[in-house]
Amino acid sequence: MLEKNVDFAVYTKTTPSKDGYFGKYGGAYIPPQLVDEFEKISTAYQAICKSSKFIHELRRIRKEFQGRPTPVGHCERLSNSIGNCQIYLKREDLNHTGAHKLNHCMGEGLLAKYLGKKKIIAETGAGQHGVALATAAAYFGLECDIYMGEVDIAKQAPNVARMKLLGTRVIPVSHGLKTLKEAVDAAFEAYMGEFEDTIYCIGSVVGPHPFPMMVRDFQSVVGIEAREQFVSMTGELPDAVVACVGGGSNAAGIMTAFLNDPVKLYGVEPLGRGTEIGEHAASLTYGKEGVMHGFNSIMLQDEKGEPLPVYSIASGLDYPSVGPEHAYLKDLGRVTYKTASDDEAIDAFDKLSKLEGIIPALESAHAVAYAMKLAKEMGTGSILVNCSGRGDKDMDYVIEHYGERLGIK
Ligand SMILES: *Cc1c(COP(=O)(O)O)cnc(C)c1O
Repeated sequence: MLEKNVDFAVYTKTTPSKDGYFGKYGGAYIPPQLVDEFEKISTAYQAICKSSKFIHELRRIRKEFQGRPTPVGHCERLSNSIGNCQIYLKREDLNHTGAHKLNHCMGEGLLAKYLGKKKIIAETGAGQHGVALATAAAYFGLECDIYMGEVDIAKQAPNVARMKLLGTRVIPVSHGLKTLKEAVDAAFEAYMGEFEDTIYCIGSVVGPHPFPMMVRDFQSVVGIEAREQFVSMTGELPDAVVACVGGGSNAAGIMTAFLNDPVKLYGVEPLGRGTEIGEHAASLTYGKEGVMHGFNSIMLQDEKGEPLPVYSIASGLDYPSVGPEHAYLKDLGRVTYKTASDDEAIDAFDKLSKLEGIIPALESAHAVAYAMKLAKEMGTGSILVNCSGRGDKDMDYVIEHYGERLGIK
């Protein structure tokens, strides 16, 4: 589809619409008793995000606590191993706690404070969102309840221990398959019972309005920094920007700053073990329009509209839908969505480690994998990749499943 009449110079001011729509995607499909509360959050956010007190405090936190700005670095050896096209990384892996997630968790925590909330609630799958949110809660002195399936609790012992150490209550969910889906339901149910003192903190650019907008805004610091850093390093804009897409927060974060530039934008979805149902989580590539988890977007669903099973080697990418803004940007033709498989991600994980001394998160390795392919195709020019997180969290899994292939076991 061709780019319609969208003015990207004013895009973030006009998108989403007041009721949370990115074109036909987004909105807030929530129970009636929450409608007022979500409107309150939305109105408060619109006022707070323009107040100089909030902006200054968030800037100070980003600098003093998170360690921002994170650098942009040139991957000279990786680039040379492919050809003449030059690959650069935005190093979100160097953010405190090791990934971009803290960018929106600190924003959500500060918003909770401004709204006079005492507690934050969320669910977590592998525990990455839970740890980032627990970190924000400890920093702001907020109570924090994280709902987690019992199966995930057993698999992710170090993250459970981290959350507890940070003062968070990890609440086991023991019904159904005892994983993320059940944890989402349990967290939302708990929130419905106590929303006056509590805010539900969503972990990506998904969920009902205003979360896709707020999380994008909180993440946009990544692209604002990266654009300035890239131009000051090289004297020009990159030819392409690449980021992995689970829910789509790190991608939205880096891409927003480049929407109005002559820069090609690529989101990379996880192809897992292949194109069959249950073997991947490439929602935009293989999904269709529908409503899930409170918003309208493109999703992997069965005939009844129920989420299909998803899989990726990177637990942060295995989500059956994607933020509504990405569905919109895909329809507009402004962002191109590609895929990378488990195997390609593992190869990129190995190459970036050996050639650059950077062990990326398996999620980020998907973006690196596609950038390597693109660099070969482009032949010249430059690519900026969002390295959304570091790979320390993935070492045990990689040793167990790929230890022999990578010669590390
Ligand atoms: C959670 C996570 C992702 C995926 O989330 P998005 O919202 O798509 O950015 C990507 N990379 C890392 C390191 C993560 O922890």
